[in-house]
Amino acid sequence: MTSEEIIQRVRAAGVVGAGGAGFPTHVKLAARNIDTVIANGAECEPMLRCDQQLMAAHPELVVRGMRLVMQAVGAGRGLIAVKEHYASAVKALQAELDRQKDADDARAWPVSLYIIERSVYPAGDEFCLVYEVTGRLIPEAGLPLNVGCVVQNVGTLANIALAVDDGVPVTHRYVTVNGEVKSPRTINAPLGMSFDKVIECAGGYTRNESELKVVVGGPMTGHIVKDLKAETITKTTGGILVLPTDNEVVRFMSRSLDLWTKRGKASCDQCRDCTVLCPRHLLGHDFSPHEIMRAGAYGINVKNSVLTGAVMCCECRLCEAYSCPLELSPMQFYQKMKRELAAAGWKNEVHHRADLSPDDFREGRLVPTERLVARLGVGTYHAWPVAWDESEVRADRVAISLKQHIGVPAQPVVAEGDMVSIGQLIAAPPEGKLGASIHASIAGRVSSVGDKTVVIEA
Ligand code: SF4
Ligand code: SF4
Repeated sequence: MTSEEIIQRVRAAGVVGAGGAGFPTHVKLAARNIDTVIANGAECEPMLRCDQQLMAAHPELVVRGMRLVMQAVGAGRGLIAVKEHYASAVKALQAELDRQKDADDARAWPVSLYIIERSVYPAGDEFCLVYEVTGRLIPEAGLPLNVGCVVQNVGTLANIALAVDDGVPVTHRYVTVNGEVKSPRTINAPLGMSFDKVIECAGGYTRNESELKVVVGGPMTGHIVKDLKAETITKTTGGILVLPTDNEVVRFMSRSLDLWTKRGKASCDQCRDCTVLCPRHLLGHDFSPHEIMRAGAYGINVKNSVLTGAVMCCECRLCEAYSCPLELSPMQFYQKMKRELAAAGWKNEVHHRADLSPDDFREGRLVPTERLVARLGVGTYHAWPVAWDESEVRADRVAISLKQHIGVPAQPVVAEGDMVSIGQLIAAPPEGKLGASIHASIAGRVSSVGDKTVVIEA
């Protein structure tokens, strides 16, 4: 199969980056001058299990997806990066690689495991992962392909394998439902299923709903759900977490930007703890979060590059949730600045430095997951068993978002009243625009078609 054929099948299946913001995968596969493909199996967000469980349950899909990506981009080396303590995943992947070792495909596209010995946050961040695995430093505000690498989440790789080998489009998403639910589990949920129904699949709440909040995503990069019936599963939803209202994660995520700003102005003592633990600063980027706090507090004597440096923040939330002893948030200032820069049409021609050297103290300043988990107050949920449940999840109604990816929303190709089957195309990106196709996740009748969603009733 040619590279172009792989890319076409991935595009047709609507595959997007499952571990991040949903960048359309077919665009990534068109990269050239790549020598290394890295499978991101680091899964560094506490409480989530979907990636490690997928690797343990379906190593064949991850390995197959790796080889297809290597073939598409012409890379000679494939490395599956997985944490050592994800023992079931390591064992399953190694057994799969051993089983295939004499196959022609395995010789042409060699894949091996890269074991991440220390569990730190944010190990799964692309900049950190590429450095960990290859020793290469991605330039400021750059991409892995700037240093000859392509990084794909393991869930994306599984979707690539299904798309290319079987023509199966993305209709479901493995989601970990954890926290204050009766039966924590990872389920394979249809896209568009509402969060309240997903929580029912995990047995429902353990206590009165008024004492709980629901977070979508992980406890570090997720956000509190405002409407459990309106918000639905997308291709990038990795977790639905139910937490007590007095939990640290909820307390922090509930603060308004206004409150973060007032606290920052009132309290920052410029101790630099946010800077010395920031993963971007530690990789040698010209990036010092305490400076944005000074800008927020005084608004004077600020170099423009301090403000525009916002484009280097990866929004890992470490400064806010862990580093700052005064519970302040440089990240909130950076997010605000990013929005303002985007609104002003600012283009980054400043922050591209590539002559980087990691901080001399980096190794000692990486944040151990266990300490982060303790700080977040989620130790019990992080450690307890979470079932892997691949049984069919039935949904009577799905409201499928037309924007589950980076780029423009997909445009509906169905009309109200149409009958659709699972996997049928219901929306596609406009010709020539960045985006991804969307497919029906249940069979049924299209009951409404809007600008933002297509609703299907079984
Ligand atoms: S934001 Fe917090 S960690 Fe950063 S300089 Fe201010 S007080 Fe120190
Ligand atoms: S969120 Fe905070 S710790 Fe993370 S990259 Fe941005 S400034 Fe650094």
